[in-house]
Amino acid sequence: MFKTVTGNIRYIKNAFHESKGYTFLIVLLNTLVSCMLALKVLAVGKLIDDAGAFQELGISRITMDACLIIVVYLLEYVFASVQSYLNYKFTIRLNNRMEDRYYSKLSCVKYAVLEDNDKNNLIYQAKDGIGKKFAEGFSRVLDLAGLVVRIGSMFFVILTKNVWTGLLLLVVFCCLLPLYRKIGEDNYEAYAESNKEFRRARSYRLVVSDREYANERQVFGYFPFFNEKWKARYHSAIEKELKASRQNHLKILVITAAVAALTTLLSGVMLPALLNGSITLGVYVVLVTQLYNLVHYMSWNFSYIIDDLSENQLYLNDFDAFMKLDEVSGADSGAEASGDHLEIRVENLSFRYPGCEEYVLKNFSFVFRKGKHYAIVGKNGAGKTTLVKLLLGLYDDYEGKILINGTDLRRLSREEIHNVFSTVFQDYAKYALTVKENVLLDQVDRPEKQQQAEDVLARLGVLGEIRQLRDGMNTYLGKIDQNGVDLSGGQWQKIAIARGAVPDAGVYILDEPSSSLDPISERNLYEIYNRIFKDRTTILITHRLGNTRDQDEILVLDAGSLVEHGHHTVLMEQKSVYYDMYIRQRSWYHEETL
Ligand code: ADP
Repeated sequence: MFKTVTGNIRYIKNAFHESKGYTFLIVLLNTLVSCMLALKVLAVGKLIDDAGAFQELGISRITMDACLIIVVYLLEYVFASVQSYLNYKFTIRLNNRMEDRYYSKLSCVKYAVLEDNDKNNLIYQAKDGIGKKFAEGFSRVLDLAGLVVRIGSMFFVILTKNVWTGLLLLVVFCCLLPLYRKIGEDNYEAYAESNKEFRRARSYRLVVSDREYANERQVFGYFPFFNEKWKARYHSAIEKELKASRQNHLKILVITAAVAALTTLLSGVMLPALLNGSITLGVYVVLVTQLYNLVHYMSWNFSYIIDDLSENQLYLNDFDAFMKLDEVSGADSGAEASGDHLEIRVENLSFRYPGCEEYVLKNFSFVFRKGKHYAIVGKNGAGKTTLVKLLLGLYDDYEGKILINGTDLRRLSREEIHNVFSTVFQDYAKYALTVKENVLLDQVDRPEKQQQAEDVLARLGVLGEIRQLRDGMNTYLGKIDQNGVDLSGGQWQKIAIARGAVPDAGVYILDEPSSSLDPISERNLYEIYNRIFKDRTTILITHRLGNTRDQDEILVLDAGSLVEHGHHTVLMEQKSVYYDMYIRQRSWYHEETL
């Protein structure tokens, strides 16, 4: 439990790091507000004492005492209000900063990390509520500190009023401390367990509510399945939390009763001192009320804070692990990678996915030259997409070499790789942006690019349909905007192809770009595609061999190895792997060309 408390202090450090001024002021005000409790009790004690000696002291003294109480209350109110105002402003700032930190880290995280399920979970956990987690964590530590100040200041008051009572109380507190610690630890364990269950439950909730899963949710109709899973986890979490809470309340109830009985005993012990005049009535009242206050603070408040601290500690662990995720290297070779004599030389490339035994690519060697059109073919799982991922620098833990104009790919920065390749993925993204933004993304403000985008869309045969939309190229796509329209799969695909065609890249990669088209539209698309990319270097990934006849060179991958390469006619003459695949698929080429 102490580890949790010290762990949570990082929230203060983090706040201090973001703004020394705000943190200092908020901590100061929190301390002052916490001290006010003792001051209030002292002021009330003084009023009771002076009221007892009203005849001698007169009305003015009583009035002054009353004013003092009002001043203390007012001060407490002012301090608390200023603290809450500063808290509000600082919370917004802190939240924005932490979100920025999260997203800038995420933008540098290696692709391999994003494909790892556990790490993906971690990314989700770290994102979950990041907007307020750090501000809440900071507030909770302040609450704990405030509690300690309140308890400390009350001890101090008791000690100054009656040393023996104070010392006796100190002894009682010291005896109880290990017990509180034990309760705190048990609480931490129990709440940490239930918090883990809640997290797992939330992840199931996401599957039944998030848009990302909408298609599969409909297709597989798995709502009841995940809903059941969610319910089971949720109820188990609630059960654990309730059990923890029951046990906790029971223990605290016993301790509270014991301490309250002890306090009553102490009040009795102090009676002779009151009767023989060694302590005044005011002091006596102060001491008794303080003792009961202490019981309250040391039991219930403490328990609630521990629960929050345990959850915040779990979050901090996740956040730390997230911040340690591998990042892409920021290498900048200064290489002129997209120059006129572009050449991509792949030498003895072998690769297996992180954590996997099997090699997905084995000793692949090939040279891609400028201006040529390549097709990579092979059965599903042959390694085509993996090869593309490696060319794009998404993984760097491969064996062999990928040289771009003689420079090792691993030495190129992200921007340099970005200049070399433009890619249309099979599972392209559909952005809730305008048509123009969907095609041009960050280049949207460049007028020459806007013209180019329209040209490409016109060649793809979709510009006419886009112009008929409510705001033409400025029409919002998707359902987020009230006037947003949704497009057909084929239209979306053409927009994705246009997005890949507009950048000035050295090589254009199209990974199965026609998967959502019928065979005739597919054939048309490839004709357009060949025209758009006529003089450019292209790599087409496909498993439909009918589309490969026009390519300069076809690379045939089988179980991760390059088994054949050459022009369609050459490969057909060889009557080997490509020929066999082609013959097997021939029936549907006939249908396509009908
Ligand atoms: P293709 O594009 O030829 O269909 P892929 O390159 O997608 O084949 O996949 C090649 C092999 O690598 C397959 O066996 C696939 O299951 C495996 N694979 C693909 N992605 C991953 C991944 N992220 N982690 C582990 N194995 C993967």
